[in-house]
Amino acid sequence: MNETLSPAHATALDAADPLRHLRNQFLIPQHDAEDQIYFVGNSLGLQPKGAKAMVQEVMDLWASIAVEGHFTGPTHWMSYHRLVRDSLARVVGALPGEVVAMNTLSVNLHLMMVSFYRPTAERPAIVMEAGAFPTDRHAVEAQIRFHGFNPDTDLIEVQPDEPNGTISMAAIERAIADNGKRVALVLWPGVQYRTGQVFDLGAITRLARAHGANIGFDLAHSVGNVPLALHDIAPDFAVWCHYKYLNAGPGAVAGCFVHERHANDTTLPRFAGWWGHEQATRFQMAPQFVPEVGAEGWQLSNPPVLGLAPLRASLALFDDAGMPALRAKSERLTGYLETMVRARLGEVLQVITPSDIERRGCQLSLRVNGGRSQGRSLFEYLQSVGVLGDWREPDVIRISPTPMYNRYRDVYRFIDEVEAWAGV
Ligand SMILES: *Cc1c(COP(=O)(O)O)cnc(C)c1O
Repeated sequence: MNETLSPAHATALDAADPLRHLRNQFLIPQHDAEDQIYFVGNSLGLQPKGAKAMVQEVMDLWASIAVEGHFTGPTHWMSYHRLVRDSLARVVGALPGEVVAMNTLSVNLHLMMVSFYRPTAERPAIVMEAGAFPTDRHAVEAQIRFHGFNPDTDLIEVQPDEPNGTISMAAIERAIADNGKRVALVLWPGVQYRTGQVFDLGAITRLARAHGANIGFDLAHSVGNVPLALHDIAPDFAVWCHYKYLNAGPGAVAGCFVHERHANDTTLPRFAGWWGHEQATRFQMAPQFVPEVGAEGWQLSNPPVLGLAPLRASLALFDDAGMPALRAKSERLTGYLETMVRARLGEVLQVITPSDIERRGCQLSLRVNGGRSQGRSLFEYLQSVGVLGDWREPDVIRISPTPMYNRYRDVYRFIDEVEAWAGV
């Protein structure tokens, strides 16, 4: 056997991995008394070992000092959202004032569209991808209707134009240029959830702005997966969740970015709440709304402290590793997966994620030769042996080796199990 395809090579790659210590910071689910092979960090990241203590700290304060917890100690609840702000800004490449952890993704998407989707009769349209994650499609359609416009004409969906269902930059360019002055907002994903395609957010931002449109990103599958430079790229807004690659637990509080150029703009309409009021005068409880400067000015409610607590533990690990090192490992780990699939499973699996490293993150989306029923059969076999990927209709298995806790040996095991299933 070619040496680079051997199990010894996988073991050697793990031993040489500068981030190998991070795996021990996570609780790994068990299968038959062994670590599960977990490739679903794109859906629900594993629990950092430090998360429970963060939650426990809140529970203990609540038990011992109750309402005083709002104002007592370095982790007081009044500005608990600020405990995650600087680390979050580093993960997305933003200034601290440009980010806030609040609500959940779909809620933030609506709040952002209230401010940044300002349709007029001449310019009513939203451009987005066809086949978007359903919540994005629902939210966009609802906003268009809410403003009295018509999704049939004003929701412009860019169809995949590449063989594997990915979308070329040329197709995006065409859709924006063709609709030009009719486009009020472009809403685009950083990473397409089904294909794993990574988009050039800088290029899309420049395109949208060149046509006078606002631009916002859904970064659910990008945050903690690929490096981001939101401040420099300068979209109007971005939203994301924290339970995928950010490992903050089911239903975790989400994230939101508003570019600095909007930080002091009190003319933007927004759905205000008391927590968006400037912090210095919030407790004067006056009737007039004065927004806090920056993204925090879009908050509605006091921070959901229990939902934020695990995020602190996870972000400490991101601060420790840094996105550049995580990305460097991710490119190698996913590259190893791709090499192994092509070398040993070329007859069984097709990779639909672009193989250009710039156009993908850690996830590879795979199609099983023989169609949907073969795909389901493989997927169920893998589950039965403790190798977890996930299934996306109609026929895609997503495998996402995350650089935080996956090993080269995990990838090796996946390849072995697919071979066992296929009888290659
Ligand atoms: C996961 C995901 C969501 C989830 O939305 P919630 O409001 O957190 O339930 C939204 N959009 C995309 C693209 C996603 O991948």
